[in-house]
Amino acid sequence: MEKKITILGAGLVGSLLSILLQKRGYQVTILERRSDMRKANMSAGRSINLAMSVRGWAALEMAGLKKDIEEIAIPMYGRQIHNLDGTTVFQAYGKNNEAIYSVSRGDLNKKLISLAEANGVSIQFNQRVEDVELDTQVLKIEDAQTLVKSEYQDHEMIIAADGAFSALRNAYVKKDRFNYNQFYIEHGYKELFIPAGENNSFLIEEKALHIWPRKNFMLIALPNFDGSFTCTLFFPFEGNPSFSAIKTEADAKQFFETQFPDALELMPTFAEDYFKNPTSSLVTVKCFPWIYEDKSFLIGDAAHAIVPFYGQGMNAGFEDCRILMEIMDASSSKSWKEILPIYQQARKKNGDAVADLALQNFIEMRDLVADPLFLARKKIEKQLGLLYPAQFNSVYEMVSFSNTSYHFAISCQKAQDKLLQKIMAEGDFETNVNLPEFKNLLVNWIVEYANEVALLEK
Ligand SMILES: Cc1cc2nc3c(=O)[nH]c(=O)nc-3n(C[C@H](O)[C@H](O)[C@H](O)COP(=O)(O)OP(=O)(O)OC[C@H]3O[C@@H](n4cnc5c(N)ncnc54)[C@H](O)[C@@H]3O)c2cc1C
Repeated sequence: MEKKITILGAGLVGSLLSILLQKRGYQVTILERRSDMRKANMSAGRSINLAMSVRGWAALEMAGLKKDIEEIAIPMYGRQIHNLDGTTVFQAYGKNNEAIYSVSRGDLNKKLISLAEANGVSIQFNQRVEDVELDTQVLKIEDAQTLVKSEYQDHEMIIAADGAFSALRNAYVKKDRFNYNQFYIEHGYKELFIPAGENNSFLIEEKALHIWPRKNFMLIALPNFDGSFTCTLFFPFEGNPSFSAIKTEADAKQFFETQFPDALELMPTFAEDYFKNPTSSLVTVKCFPWIYEDKSFLIGDAAHAIVPFYGQGMNAGFEDCRILMEIMDASSSKSWKEILPIYQQARKKNGDAVADLALQNFIEMRDLVADPLFLARKKIEKQLGLLYPAQFNSVYEMVSFSNTSYHFAISCQKAQDKLLQKIMAEGDFETNVNLPEFKNLLVNWIVEYANEVALLEK
């Protein structure tokens, strides 16, 4: 008998997961609310892009898709900081020339959808799941085009990969003892655009993630293949300055002339983009449990929606898929009753940890990247990593350049803060590191640090 699974949502996580499951012998159907984005008229160059890092690549590799996606990814080796006085500084992300990769969300999603179909997945577009009867596994669906309502129940398992406002999760919310926490930050975001120069040239550094940090707000830009950059303004909804305080084209231009003059010069369609593009909110969702008996479960943003400041939402969702497959592959019974509690146990703490890391990183991106003390610390972290590679890896590197669990990475933070404070209190590291007395101290501190983190659960 065929083992049938229905996935809600053909977004990034749903499409990837469908391929991994189909390859393990399941027959997967995806119900997707939107129309087929491969046919929809998405204007070139105006797609939002995402940073893909090691965890994302690991899951794609497991699905045999790494090469396909590498073709549409641009490496970004560091942050290019744009100061208010027009000067720029490049800060490498890693100590060994590591990169995160700019990928167009639209191109990635289209490619994953096509690859899912090529692997035998059936994708039903325009099918919005309105409600789920948890015990009977009946899905209540509305056709987004005809508005005809129907019911669907032809599966042994329902998986919700339907994003931050998941329909399955809404059904869980109505159940007794389901914990649910939803939190909006006071900032929203708006997409803006820097077009390519002549012959598709890049008008600012191609292989970097650009940041204009301005303490309580920031502008960022990620490169696209055609030489353009997709920019995002992260800005408070209320107060002064804020989205609500900018009412006219003149207000918007004046604000950008004051805060981001070098970026404004590169944005010929600024006023049009600013008023045409929506202002969107940023939500964090934590919930528990993620599973319902052996009948359904949550994955990706449906389980853990997070703010985008560590560039990890998709990466975390892809990692959910990889870990789930590892658990399935290791299970002798292959029964959902055995697999799901292990999946939840493995991933829930990591969903919470990456949500917290992402909230913290907003302050780092919009403010600290321009702070000399912070930069000095970053430099020392890299040197420590080179001097003691077996003992020390910065939290940023663990998150972006390794598959170390998010939970372990965030747990190391306190110990790293303590170590770095001691080192920085001694004065200039570059000078000290050559002094025998300091070297002895440092070795002791590193051993202490290593012992401390060894006690943390990996
Ligand atoms: C501004 C911004 C920047 C970001 N940058 C990064 C980054 O650099 N790196 C990174 O890793 N992550 C980033 N993220 C996060 C990333 O976009 C998400 O984590 C990722 O898209 C989650 O994938 P998903 O498949 O779980 O959900 P989604 O991508 O939201 O997909 C959900 C799918 O389900 C469909 N759907 C929804 N409801 C229903 C329903 N009721 N019935 C049927 N279908 C439904 C939707 O149409 C959609 O296709 C960013 C997010 C934002 C907002």
